[in-house]
Amino acid sequence: MNYFYEILNKRIGYSRVGRIKLSKEPKKYVETPNVILPMRNFLMKDVNFLEEFEDHEIFLITKEVFLKIGFLRDKFRNTAFIFTHTGTLQTFIEILENNIDIFSEDNIILLIPFNIPTTTLNENFAKNEIVHHLKSVKKLLENFPNLNFGLSIKIFEHPQFLDLYSPLIKENKNIKLLNLIDFFTANTNFRNVLDLVISIKQNFDNNLVLMASGRIIPKYFPILIYLGIDLIDSSYLQYLTSENFYDTIEFLLPIYKVKYFPCSCVACQTKLKNFQSMKYSDEKFEYLCLHNLIAAKTYMNKIKQYLRTEDFRAFVEKSSFDDVLIVSILKVLDRQYFDLIKYETPITDSFSTVKCFGPSSYYRPDFQQFRERLIKYFSPEPWTKLIIIFPCSARKPYSASKSHKKFHSVLRKFPDFPDFQEIILTSPLGAIPRQLENIYPVNSYDISVTGFWDNEEIDLASKMLVELLKMYNPKIPIICHVSDKGYKEIVLRAQKQLPNQFYFTEVYKNLTTSDSMKSLENIVKNLKDSFNLNEKITKSKYYSKSWVRKLVKVADYQFGSNIGMEIFSKGIRVKKNNASKNLDVIDIEKKILLGKFLVKTGQIELTLKGAEILSSIDKEFNIVVFDGDLIKGNTLFRPGIVEFSQNLIPNNYAIILDKSKKRVIGLAKLIVGSNYIKNSSNGRIAKVYEKIS
Ligand SMILES: [Zn+2]
Repeated sequence: MNYFYEILNKRIGYSRVGRIKLSKEPKKYVETPNVILPMRNFLMKDVNFLEEFEDHEIFLITKEVFLKIGFLRDKFRNTAFIFTHTGTLQTFIEILENNIDIFSEDNIILLIPFNIPTTTLNENFAKNEIVHHLKSVKKLLENFPNLNFGLSIKIFEHPQFLDLYSPLIKENKNIKLLNLIDFFTANTNFRNVLDLVISIKQNFDNNLVLMASGRIIPKYFPILIYLGIDLIDSSYLQYLTSENFYDTIEFLLPIYKVKYFPCSCVACQTKLKNFQSMKYSDEKFEYLCLHNLIAAKTYMNKIKQYLRTEDFRAFVEKSSFDDVLIVSILKVLDRQYFDLIKYETPITDSFSTVKCFGPSSYYRPDFQQFRERLIKYFSPEPWTKLIIIFPCSARKPYSASKSHKKFHSVLRKFPDFPDFQEIILTSPLGAIPRQLENIYPVNSYDISVTGFWDNEEIDLASKMLVELLKMYNPKIPIICHVSDKGYKEIVLRAQKQLPNQFYFTEVYKNLTTSDSMKSLENIVKNLKDSFNLNEKITKSKYYSKSWVRKLVKVADYQFGSNIGMEIFSKGIRVKKNNASKNLDVIDIEKKILLGKFLVKTGQIELTLKGAEILSSIDKEFNIVVFDGDLIKGNTLFRPGIVEFSQNLIPNNYAIILDKSKKRVIGLAKLIVGSNYIKNSSNGRIAKVYEKIS
């Protein structure tokens, strides 16, 4: 079996949803991420354990006694097993040779152990131990080229030791899984954790399954999955059980202190209470172990669910409130590794809300991506003669809110309203031109609005405001209709760095009272013609329509500076599609559909006609060159790709060119980004939504 792991969906950070194929038959696979449960004698005798975990997908076996055909094939036919041994490598090889029939089957992975005493190893000694160990491993891998192996990796707090393993991993295609031992514990150096994960993702096949084992407690599951771990070994819980710990996810409590049993599992609801105070009791150990394993599995189920339907990043941040190690990892990953993580994080998502909790959310990779693209690709409408700054609203998109409707009722009194540029200030996304209010994440973020701003929020927004305003002629007057101290501070900080003239409206009580509205109206009336456009700008009448103005800028945001005006150069008509609620974008002259604006993500999905225009303007935009002339099926797989752009991002769109690179033969939404494509030889790359036949 050479096809092992396949990715189904990329999620934020390095997190991903995938599956391990167990057999050639369909429908036999292990979903990832997942938790690996230890299979132990005492558990196998426990009817509760069997009932509870009957359908669990993956177990760890360390004892030869379980390697029986009757057991593995009959009782657990649809289950996957990882076999390893706590003894020497030699014993492991002997067991392998004695049970070769079992190991040749589909549902078992051989995990090569690394059992060298961990303490008191100096760097040089540890290095020699690894080198020596890997010599024997190499032989083993070469002797059994057709078996699937997992390789245990131990780096002893020296991330550079990964280089020692590197040639072996690259040369032996029968290594399907990397088991990172003890790389993540409560007292880990978080920089080592990041170094290791990042060098694996940048240098090795991204279809290798990543497993974490060692002293891992469930509290760390969310961050481990955010770091790209697919399988987590929960065996450490057995040790914690023997130390009398009861896991509540947030805490590990000594069992004798537990009074309320905040869990409704079978152990907590039946006998665990009775044995609680007994110091040594096998039965107590069994029930406590059962609870701890159920807690781990339940928590993993929560993660699996949230990865598919909720804002997973918010969940990881929430888990960091319990642990400073998680805080540090997120902080450093967000700020120091954004240039890598941005090719891993989907550019859009369609969750109902994206939650910002405060500083931990400011530099989420999707937020940074948004801010970076906006500044890079936005360009002013050449006819702009007035800039007006507003505060954000809780309701999204802003223009659907009561306050913004009121602002618009004033602005629309002026027939030259399309010549005004509105900018909305918000935390933590920054400063947003009105035209981009419908795209992710502007259309879906939620943050508590109290009027109290921290310095970082103000700084983020004012820096972005400066960047935006610098794009305009400094003689264009800027009207500020803001009242909160925070918003004012943003503007004042920006003002210090710019030559522009700022004008503040008079605010009476709040921004939407009739007196405040009157002040806005007067100031607009007085200033709107004060800036003289030097050259005569010819502007098609279509560009005065709000949706057309928006779509031109959304196209720039997606496809690059000034692309929108070129794709839509003949003029467009926007028509609401009643069935899908999306907007059809139609070329007025030729009456052809150029694309659809998807309301949920705020992105334009081009049609082949639209893509042909784009491709004639920018030949390099998000291309994937297909190894052939016609695409079969609706999924693009790695082997079919001969060339690709280096800045592809999951969930973004790609143009598929034929082998000669002369013709657009299809359009797709990317499942993965360039780094995955670069570091893989198989797997799904993109979903094709239109193609020529
Ligand atoms: Zn319980």
